[in-house]
Amino acid sequence: MITDAHGRAFRNLRISLTAACNYACTYCVPDGKRLLPARAELSARDMVRAVSLLIDVAGIDKLRITGGEPLLSPKLDAFLPQVMRLPLKDVGLTTNGQLLARKAELLVRSGLKRINVSLDTLDGARFRNIARTGDLDSVLAGIDAVAAAGMKVKINMVPMRTANRDQILPMLDFCLDRGFELRYIELMKMGHLNGNTQFQRDFVGMDEILELIDSRYEFARTDAPFDSTAVRFDIPGRGTFGIIANESEPFCSSCTRLRLSSNGRLYGCLSNARSHDITPILESADDEARPALAAILTRALQDKQPLRFSGEVTVMKFIGG
Ligand code: SAM
Repeated sequence: MITDAHGRAFRNLRISLTAACNYACTYCVPDGKRLLPARAELSARDMVRAVSLLIDVAGIDKLRITGGEPLLSPKLDAFLPQVMRLPLKDVGLTTNGQLLARKAELLVRSGLKRINVSLDTLDGARFRNIARTGDLDSVLAGIDAVAAAGMKVKINMVPMRTANRDQILPMLDFCLDRGFELRYIELMKMGHLNGNTQFQRDFVGMDEILELIDSRYEFARTDAPFDSTAVRFDIPGRGTFGIIANESEPFCSSCTRLRLSSNGRLYGCLSNARSHDITPILESADDEARPALAAILTRALQDKQPLRFSGEVTVMKFIGG
């Protein structure tokens, strides 16, 4: 296994199926422009090959399919069933849910068991202010469809002071009532938020989130796996929720994440724009591809930050949030 001075290894791969997205969330992108032409992106076949090599060489055992918006990509139909057959302990997918009702059958048929849906508000007008488009009812119908099919659902919410702070409790009630785990994601200094006042104005930290929840529920901190990004809490008799506390409780020292962008570049750290092109390797035979990939992984591991998340100009939807 390839490890760094902090004992970190890559176990957890996030693959951006496409950089294209049907939303243009205000905290993710300054506008909705396409970041990459479709012809610059890897084919489903190359992506499956990349995952397979990364399992062999890095020891990846967890995969999250993300984007951009993964359900928007025509590649999903070929990619998902093939990747589900690879020797992985866990495969999940992160989506904004807009196309979920339409894609639920494909997801279930492919054997996907877990899904994270990003949803920042239960108010239709505010939903459109944040996503700049889309329709809340379609997302809710999609969530119902996958939950009814037995899939484990987590909901991701990014609380922001001026956009949806008052949704922190309603979103929790919504999730507890349905047996979903809610994950509050602290706003990150990514893309256009890096070094701009929108971040300072809108950041809502873990203490403030917990104070609000404390006004309604009794809760206690509970165990999370070693390399979990979330701090988890139990509300006895009701369920659990988590906070991805990038700023308040950084998890860099135990980070096992590796990212593959849709144009075939590996990123060792969300907070580092350095990337490593693996497209030439995908064309090589295994005996050449494996040592070449191992050399790249050693370099990518050095890109990780030692302790804190410092932010980066890279756009989340490009490298796979
Ligand atoms: N389109 C899919 C979705 O909406 O879930 C997957 C890609 S999206 C980039 C993945 C996650 O990143 C979403 O939950 C989104 O809320 C989160 N995200 C994007 N920009 C962020 C930021 N600056 N801070 C915190 N979370 C962010």
